[in-house]
Amino acid sequence: METKIVKVNNINSERKLIMEGAKYIKEGKLVVFPTETVYGLGANGLDEEAVLKIFHAKGRPQDNPLILHVSSMKEVKSLVKSISTEAERLMEKYWPGPLTMLFQRSDAIPDIITAGLDTVAIRMPNNSIALKLIEMSGVPIAAPSANTSGKPSPTSVQHVIEDLYGKVDMIIDGGATGVGLESTVLDLTGNIPMILRPGGITLEDLQYIIPNVEFDLSIIKDNENIIPKSPGQKYRHYAPKADMIVFTGEVDNIVNTIKEKSNELTKQGKSVGIMATDETKDRYDEEIVISVGSRKNKETIAHNLFNAIRLFDKKNVDIILSEGVELSHIGIAIMNRLKKASGGNIIEV
Ligand code: AMP
Ligand code: MG
Repeated sequence: METKIVKVNNINSERKLIMEGAKYIKEGKLVVFPTETVYGLGANGLDEEAVLKIFHAKGRPQDNPLILHVSSMKEVKSLVKSISTEAERLMEKYWPGPLTMLFQRSDAIPDIITAGLDTVAIRMPNNSIALKLIEMSGVPIAAPSANTSGKPSPTSVQHVIEDLYGKVDMIIDGGATGVGLESTVLDLTGNIPMILRPGGITLEDLQYIIPNVEFDLSIIKDNENIIPKSPGQKYRHYAPKADMIVFTGEVDNIVNTIKEKSNELTKQGKSVGIMATDETKDRYDEEIVISVGSRKNKETIAHNLFNAIRLFDKKNVDIILSEGVELSHIGIAIMNRLKKASGGNIIEV
């Protein structure tokens, strides 16, 4: 398939390019577009055949439901059975933004979107290109991350091209994404509001509006028997080609343990990559050390994380030894992605 790549710097002067993307969406084609979290692989969310193409292009299992992206709060109405007061207040505070909410689905939604579940996930992205594209399409856009399933989510067009060139009709280049991690998925359909996937909007953010919000047990407990409520959380994700071990605990202990482990692995002839932070990177003598950002500003770590994982793959390391971060605020989402990327290979030191 021919993939058209267009660069949009300004949504006003380049309105025509977005309009062309919207035309593609209406024709049932696949359009990759930037959001504030990661790049999305979009199709008309009300067109079953178009949505099926998303699953094929990504190699995504069909039991993993998709998020519908809207450009206004009023679009939600026809997609859901009802909107609670809490949902309304959350939308007002955090939309557009990296918060996905689950609602009881209406009959307008094809089964393929929800993987047969009776809930549907919806969000409004905080990116002007994305909002314009959705508005001009006139339909909700189904859009998972625009990567091959299992690989790190794309935070730049280069990542999208690596994974999906030739498999999608159009890629809209809007520069690097902001947050760098996917949206928070919040389930408001039960008695207690549950975070099914930690993301850009933190537990602390949500507590302002819904003080009784909790994490789904699968996020905080290391027990294989707990089945995540969000089907996507059961798959290995964000995985580098290399093996990966994540070390958590006191920073000094982390650095010392990584150095010891690295020595041991190098002696065995392995090529080691170290995922460090600004505060620690100079303490390693290894050849391949990538800092993901400052421990004092975890948002930068979130922003750089997936790119760093892809960089290690380009450097063909055999194993990545990664520092962990504290489990608070966006650190919870970062550790969730590191846990998945490493296949649960986390060592407390
Ligand atoms: P992605 O499309 O890669 O951002 O992933 C979307 C995430 O939302 C996956 O983890 C899905 O399992 C989750 N999700 C989407 N719809 C639902 C739903 N109706 N119920 C639970 N989780 C959902
Ligand atoms: Mg994804």
